[in-house]
Amino acid sequence: MNLLTELQNLLGPAHVLTGSDADPYLQDWRRRYRGSALAVVRPGSVGEVAGVVRLCLQNGTPLVPQGGNTGLCGGATPDDSGRAVLLSTARLNRVRAIDTENDTITVEAGCVLQAVQQAARDAGRLFPLSLAAEGSCTIGGNLATNAGGTQVLRYGNARELALGLEVVTAEGEIWNGLRGLRKDNTGYDLRDLYIGSEGTLGIITAATLRLYPLPVASCTALLALDSIDAAVELLSRARTGFGASLTGFELMAGDCLQSVVRLFPQQRLPLDGASAGSPWFALLELSDSESEAHARERFEAVLGAAIDAGLVTDAAIAANVAQSRAMWHLRESIPLAEAELGKGVKHDVSIPISSIAAFVHTTNALLQQRFPGVRNVVFGHLGDGNLHYNVARGPGQTEADLLALQQGIYDIVHRSVQEHGGSISAEHGIGQLKRDELPHYKSALELSLMKRIKQALDPHGLMNPGKVLQA
Ligand SMILES: Cc1cc2nc3c(=O)[nH]c(=O)nc-3n(C[C@H](O)[C@H](O)[C@H](O)COP(=O)(O)OP(=O)(O)OC[C@H]3O[C@@H](n4cnc5c(N)ncnc54)[C@H](O)[C@@H]3O)c2cc1C
Repeated sequence: MNLLTELQNLLGPAHVLTGSDADPYLQDWRRRYRGSALAVVRPGSVGEVAGVVRLCLQNGTPLVPQGGNTGLCGGATPDDSGRAVLLSTARLNRVRAIDTENDTITVEAGCVLQAVQQAARDAGRLFPLSLAAEGSCTIGGNLATNAGGTQVLRYGNARELALGLEVVTAEGEIWNGLRGLRKDNTGYDLRDLYIGSEGTLGIITAATLRLYPLPVASCTALLALDSIDAAVELLSRARTGFGASLTGFELMAGDCLQSVVRLFPQQRLPLDGASAGSPWFALLELSDSESEAHARERFEAVLGAAIDAGLVTDAAIAANVAQSRAMWHLRESIPLAEAELGKGVKHDVSIPISSIAAFVHTTNALLQQRFPGVRNVVFGHLGDGNLHYNVARGPGQTEADLLALQQGIYDIVHRSVQEHGGSISAEHGIGQLKRDELPHYKSALELSLMKRIKQALDPHGLMNPGKVLQA
């Protein structure tokens, strides 16, 4: 019996897609990568996932796991050989349990992030992972990429939010590590090994995640700033003034937001005149466990002092939930505006916060020197030292012109990241986009240890080959 027939027997023909039915799964979100596959399979249970892995193993067939397909590094797109089976977790979408006394939720990997946030909210709790792709990305994808997002400075990355995992190993065994424990020092941490492994070690099928109390009140403000240096100082004041109540601190270069309002006219900047043309903006959020009045008082005191100190040139404070949402919507629309403007050269870097301003000044200058006219599209989660330091085509340049410069741009930006003590991937991962960059920025020993782990957990090299590590 051939593999396709065996997969159909296991899952039912409706869940083994080929031809045009498989098509939507074979291209990444940015349309930078397109692959082909023997089939797209949609198992509905952990047992079926294990069955698929065993069948692929028997046939020597590579497997590519895919969640919401919102990853930005081509990690969930197969190569173009047509040999791989793409395993979509879309049908693994059950909330298995909520334990409000233990403050945990156990969900299957294909649950969409927004659905997990809602399930937590319905139980009177907060699941704080939050990112612009939350309406499509899945918990499995979030864990496989160790996703970050907008609340990392308070609650941590996906890794910090995961207490336990269920995984189908590359050999088709089911590891049930769904422990809801905050403390568990019983040897090597397998959970942390699978988190961030981008589907190259096994398939995450479920997770037990931490929940938090829902904040009683929150305050949001969009602030205009003259420089990135002012933003860094403002962050320091906000950390001191708000402590753990500071739940968001996003930085955006002026032209990011100016592009959003130009391309999506239904959105408006809540600042007028010269402030709307400001070179930098920050979006701040405070969450409070006492009351609306308490939140506002603290918020206005810190912002007032920052305005008096000349760090903030103008401020719009959201008067209600709708205005707060509109401010976040502006921030979340930046990647969509970028996509409208054509493919750019993207970097997702982290730098110690104390060096971020120097990194931006130096790297902007180096890029302009070498590639005059390219545009910097800089935004990110300043509170975590994470910048999306993207480069877009300048006037008169085509998309192809810019992409032809990609390696030269990578070299400048990634070397500068290294010189400033940073990382070339803060939250999006490596996938295939940065696989060939990694060896330049990791020590030989670190790479060798990673390869030894890959060999031990995926001895046949069938789990998402060609991603993260070079063959
Ligand atoms: C508009 C937009 C905004 C974004 N903002 C952020 C942000 O703020 N922070 C951030 O971190 N990311 C961000 N991303 C990137 C992306 O949303 C995250 O990487 C997300 O975690 C991917 O989830 P997914 O379910 O879409 O995974 P996919 O894209 O389907 O897969 C990503 C990787 O994980 C692997 N994988 C998926 N599911 C599993 C599984 N169950 N088991 C094992 N491996 C698996 C895949 O093989 C692939 O290597 C953004 C993306 C977009 C489009």
